[in-house]
Amino acid sequence: MILTITMNPSIDISYPLAEFKLDTVNRVRNVRKTAGGKGLNVTRILKQLDADVVASGLIGGFLGEEIKKDLDQTKIAHDFLPISGETRNCIAVLHEGQQTEILESGPVITKEEAAAFLEHFEQLAKRASIISFSGSLPEGLSVDFYSQMLQRCEGKPVVLDCSGEALKEVLTGDAKPHLIKPNTEELAGLLEKPISTNAVELKAALSDSIFDGIEWIVVSMGGEGAFAKHFDKFYRVMIPKIAVVNPVGSGDATVAGLTDAIEKGFSDEAILKQGNVLGMLNAQEATTGYVELANYQTLFDQIKVEEV
Ligand code: ATP
Repeated sequence: MILTITMNPSIDISYPLAEFKLDTVNRVRNVRKTAGGKGLNVTRILKQLDADVVASGLIGGFLGEEIKKDLDQTKIAHDFLPISGETRNCIAVLHEGQQTEILESGPVITKEEAAAFLEHFEQLAKRASIISFSGSLPEGLSVDFYSQMLQRCEGKPVVLDCSGEALKEVLTGDAKPHLIKPNTEELAGLLEKPISTNAVELKAALSDSIFDGIEWIVVSMGGEGAFAKHFDKFYRVMIPKIAVVNPVGSGDATVAGLTDAIEKGFSDEAILKQGNVLGMLNAQEATTGYVELANYQTLFDQIKVEEV
């Protein structure tokens, strides 16, 4: 099975408003509430791909129960560790073509809960063929928590999608993920310099010693596709122009596509095509973490993967 990890999940609430008025009452009709957090977006796409997926991480309180209910309704297997803190809400107000977000930082994890999760995770990892870690770490966990989890995977491949200090810690740790998927902005943050989409520059960037020991690096570039390194091979992934509705979560859909393809033992070309197809299919929908698979093959056939 594929194990997905979401350490700081949320109930994502969207409030569409014709006009957002400050310092007065705004009434909302079409409220949408979903179990969110990057790892749960990955999970939903994997479920749509018919993968045998189990979602785990930390959840607590009333909203934690709501997340479990949401996953049960969509028949997604889950095994979260309960915590004493309350799972967070993340609110997006959609108004006049703009998106104003209010993001709670979420619960603070105790030392005991952190230790209990590592044990819980170790047991789950034994049953997994591949594991994905997505998103930020909640407060209270040390910045090297993903490294600590990587040490408990018994060599199972890990697909990691996180940024900032948590990613830097993993790159300096001994236990390496199988694949990382930074976008261009995250790559620039890691290397502390601006990065263009020029192949020569990207090859040099991905050859930086900070990536030593990582088998796959897939840099996602939004509407410009992706650039990847697998061992010593470099690939440019060229995608067709599509009508974009909502690209939020396309990176998570890409992670789901890559993880599923690696688990199935696809070729390099097919792994990269599937990752991009899922990202594009997500971008074509209003709902984050939902894809229309009927369009899979048409997009797959239009993507070009070129070794550079
Ligand atoms: P997020 O953080 O919102 O999940 P991301 O920045 O991690 O996204 P992106 O690089 O934006 O990830 O998107 C991942 C993939 O989805 C791209 O490599 C591409 O295949 C597809 N995609 C995203 N945006 C577009 C777009 N505007 N047009 C076509 N394809 C897109």
